[in-house]
Amino acid sequence: METLVNNISIEKSSSSKIGSVDFDNLPFGSIYTDHMLVCEYVDGDWERPKIKPYANLSLDPASKIFHYGQSIFEGMKAYKDEDGQAWLFRPEDNHARLNISASRMAMPELPKEYFMEGLTALLQLEKDWIPTTEGSSLYIRPFMFASGVGFHASPADRYTFLICLAPSGPYFGGKVKVLIEEKFARAANGGVGYAKAGGNYAAQFYPTKLAVEKGYQQVIWTDDNTHEFIEEAGAMNIFVRINDTLLTAPTNDRILDGITRKSILELAKAEGIQTEVRKVKVSEVVDAAQNGSLKELFGAGTAAVVSPIAGFGYQGKDYELPELENSFAKRLKKRITDIQYNKVEDPFGWRF
Ligand code: PMP
Repeated sequence: METLVNNISIEKSSSSKIGSVDFDNLPFGSIYTDHMLVCEYVDGDWERPKIKPYANLSLDPASKIFHYGQSIFEGMKAYKDEDGQAWLFRPEDNHARLNISASRMAMPELPKEYFMEGLTALLQLEKDWIPTTEGSSLYIRPFMFASGVGFHASPADRYTFLICLAPSGPYFGGKVKVLIEEKFARAANGGVGYAKAGGNYAAQFYPTKLAVEKGYQQVIWTDDNTHEFIEEAGAMNIFVRINDTLLTAPTNDRILDGITRKSILELAKAEGIQTEVRKVKVSEVVDAAQNGSLKELFGAGTAAVVSPIAGFGYQGKDYELPELENSFAKRLKKRITDIQYNKVEDPFGWRF
């Protein structure tokens, strides 16, 4: 495989939009930086990556992304510390997961040097866009789609990989109320739930819309077969605290192998918190809510880091969670973000 070092072409934008951005009031993921990285896969090989001004793409209407949805993505963040140095969190794991998704969707894998060097070069160019306000970061969206054409339902012969950047504030404000799903599923055995395939998210929108109409903000996904087991929280992995034990479902065909989830598991162990990775029954959570042993529920993912849940609905009944002074959610969020923002030592070697 070609080694890339310094082999990325850069076309700079003639002007910058940065002066028009209010860094004290950043939305999540809707303002984009001046440049993007683009890399084309043609004739069985990845071409040299290019950094160009952020702009619309031009695509043939017969591109297979529009018809068969071959599309995958990643989500990561760059953080700036108090000395102005920029950091990534476990970026090689995002690259590895991109290729797991690519392989499941019959798309070409992207060589690691292209991902790491492309990302580093883009971030070096755009480093002034990494926010320094509390809780803010530069959200990074690497993605790949089928740009090859044809109405034949088969994999494309051409793909495009891009990285776009969005300076972002916190993902959610405050605690959320969630609905435990009894009918719909986001993923099935043998399916693509473990891949970050665009269509997985499109399939979540309708059940989530129904939950929002009922007054909830998110859906807790249960297994497609029995709906008896808790699997994920919206687009996050889920943690359940019963008494002082922290539980989360094992990853499988239907569950994304979240980088925040696995980091939280390691941090919890290092903090002396008892953890169990096992299937968690909905009935166990409902019983625990009724007898007072359910202390916390929270989602974990790159965007929100840790998203505490205030209560849940199930079978027409609402259950509330207690307000805790010293929640695991708060403690673990601080541990992980202190590492991400280079405020403490990183004994795990996660910072890059
Ligand atoms: N589950 C799903 C379905 C997701 O989309 C995400 C976000 N990538 C996660 C879990 C959390 O993964 P990570 O911690 O790697 O962001």
